[in-house]
Amino acid sequence: MYEGNSTEYIMKIFLKKNEERRILSGHLWVFSNEIDYIDNVTSDYGIADLYSYGKRFLGRGFYNKKSLIAFRLITYKKEDIDFNFFKKRIVDANNRRIKVFPDKKVYRVVNAESDFLPGLIIDRFDDYISFQISSVGIELFKKEIIDLIDLVFSPKYIIEKNNIPSRELEGLTLSQSVIKSSGESEKTVIIDDIKYIINLEEGQKTGFYLDQNENRKEIRKYVNKDSIVLDLFCYEGGFSLNAAHKGAKEITGIDSSEKAIKRAIRNSELNNFRNVEFIEKDVFSFLNEENQQKYDIIILDPPSFAKTKKNIKTAFEGYLEINTKAIKLLKRNSILITFSCSHHLTEEKFLTILGKSARKSGRDIKIIASSKCSYDHPILPQMPETIYLKGFTLFVV
Ligand code: SAH
Repeated sequence: MYEGNSTEYIMKIFLKKNEERRILSGHLWVFSNEIDYIDNVTSDYGIADLYSYGKRFLGRGFYNKKSLIAFRLITYKKEDIDFNFFKKRIVDANNRRIKVFPDKKVYRVVNAESDFLPGLIIDRFDDYISFQISSVGIELFKKEIIDLIDLVFSPKYIIEKNNIPSRELEGLTLSQSVIKSSGESEKTVIIDDIKYIINLEEGQKTGFYLDQNENRKEIRKYVNKDSIVLDLFCYEGGFSLNAAHKGAKEITGIDSSEKAIKRAIRNSELNNFRNVEFIEKDVFSFLNEENQQKYDIIILDPPSFAKTKKNIKTAFEGYLEINTKAIKLLKRNSILITFSCSHHLTEEKFLTILGKSARKSGRDIKIIASSKCSYDHPILPQMPETIYLKGFTLFVV
């Protein structure tokens, strides 16, 4: 049991003059350079109370000396951070989702800061659960979190996917382990009437990209029996399978991950879709070799090219290249559905890239829809860091 709640342990962080403004506007982070001094330093990390320069109490959260994000706010009250605290937060987050879609069994239960649980992600795949911790504060309560997942969801299987590099920025080690299992590491789940085989041990990130669920279903709107569809960076086939479900004539999915392609093929077999082909290939090479203007719909869902602010310039070039080349492969008056999941690339910049891509490819584009993550990945308006996925659907003339 973590004893950081007793008053003698709680650290007191005092901000420099005027540095409380962001916190007062609803942001949840304090950066190390904004701290004036800390009273009652009992550890390099743990529960701390945050005060303005003028000694006004602002909230309680987690301090981490090793991280640039030195403090993450978790509550505006002086309350104990313990099993019951997390129980309430997790149950609340789950209830919010159940209220919107009571029948869904596959969704993100907790989306970190946006659910006021900084650094905690919990994904539910029916009775299989994966979770990921990316803050020292939550790591201190790992046992409580696991017990709660067990209590609230009674899952057959729990996996800890703590292998994301951002943990290192917090001074945490990388690890992945199955915490509870009834034997099988594979599970078949149904999302919007399509069957998927998921393997949380092998899957990227928390096991599966749940953030695109609604956008995948949305493409059905544009598909008809004559559609020729190209799904670039297809992973386990989500967009392709939705196009197949709607009866597209011909679908090609491309991804460089052998494991992802193998599972995409199994997914399409499981659903008895016959007109889908999945190819293991680098998308850049594919786009260099392909030159037929034959597609009605292209989906472009690359990984983040700008992992940090520093490589935004090369990322810009990468997005420009794939969007330009994809536009060239579309028939007249067809559809491009294009995404960027890089937080560092703003919506405005992304639009600039799309405009340039159109000019470079000699085609005209018109935006007909825009999208973000699915409902279970909420955004905090006062915290731009919680925005990452941006999508646009375009008419390509
Ligand atoms: N559209 C997918 C998610 C894509 S995630 C879905 O709906 O689930 C990004 C994908 O890009 C990953 O599957 C990764 O394996 C793949 N990838 C990364 N770099 C690539 C490259 N150069 N060529 C092809 N695929 C790539």
